[in-house]
Amino acid sequence: MRYLITGGSGFIGSHLSERLLGQGDEVLALDDLSTGRYENIAGLEGQPGFELRLGSVTEPALVEECVKECQAVFHLASAVGVRLVVEQPVKTIETIVNGTDVVLRACARYRRPVLITSTSEVYGKSEKIPFAEGDDCVMGPTNTRRWAYACAKALDEFLALAHWNESRLPVVIARLFNTVGPRQTGRYGMVIPRFVSQGLAGSPLTVYGTGHQTRCFAHVSDIVGALVALMQNPAARGEVFNIGNDEEVSILQLADRVRALTGGKSAIQTVPYGEAYTAGFEDMYRRVPDLSKIKRLIGYRPTRNLDQILADILDEQSRKLASN
Ligand code: UDP
Repeated sequence: MRYLITGGSGFIGSHLSERLLGQGDEVLALDDLSTGRYENIAGLEGQPGFELRLGSVTEPALVEECVKECQAVFHLASAVGVRLVVEQPVKTIETIVNGTDVVLRACARYRRPVLITSTSEVYGKSEKIPFAEGDDCVMGPTNTRRWAYACAKALDEFLALAHWNESRLPVVIARLFNTVGPRQTGRYGMVIPRFVSQGLAGSPLTVYGTGHQTRCFAHVSDIVGALVALMQNPAARGEVFNIGNDEEVSILQLADRVRALTGGKSAIQTVPYGEAYTAGFEDMYRRVPDLSKIKRLIGYRPTRNLDQILADILDEQSRKLASN
């Protein structure tokens, strides 16, 4: 089977490419290398069954050509990370909304099954823990940039489900919770790669806000396994699924663990949100997935815990430092 992966050179896209090639499938990776990086897939270029095509998901002719050549589509291309969303709000909204519209139209035209990756951000500031797929999405005001990302992704979900409802286009929606693993960069705000590089440099670990906010971190290998299983299961079509890990940790506890793992030299420094992002920035206090739906359908259960995730990131960054 030949799969199109939009955002195939990104952090998650490159792991998904590897997984599919490893099981004997072919991959066409479409990426504009805006947040995706060539080095993520450099090892795959030249391998039989892999092809990289440069371009944006907002280019209809290019996307049509790619969709036509493949049997199914994983749509991962998106603006990523809270920092980017805050710094480039127009590009964020355009890439998310226009890109998904273009991909869905092409899939509708050629009747290709498509998995749309969404985000736990769509639950917004809901305080009903854990978040289940049928729960309300609680958005903040339109003058707070963070919510643009959540609303744009929610609109993608509405559009995909509308295609399913109107013409039975096979769509699956995967709401990804915080995902971590090798190749993720801290450039767009992601806390674990940032803490690990700060710890290895012996510089302060920057905890935003009070640090009492919590997150649940999943290893990218669990996430890509679930994406493949959802794509292959016809009962997933027309449905939304949380994917992640439900082991909850506060950002302060995370900082303590990273500090201990990286030699204990770093201080822990709290930074007000207004300084870290923009004035009026709103963070989610807790974000925990209810995983019962995906467990029921595909028997999903995270296999790697936070210790293993941290060990992997530490190993990757230490090796990079040693080779520089
Ligand atoms: N965070 C932090 N220090 C950093 C980067 C992030 O304390 O250097 C916090 C951030 O405010 C959030 C959590 O860590 O509460 C997770 O941030 P990330 O950007 O990884 O993902 P998010 O959950 O915001 O999508």
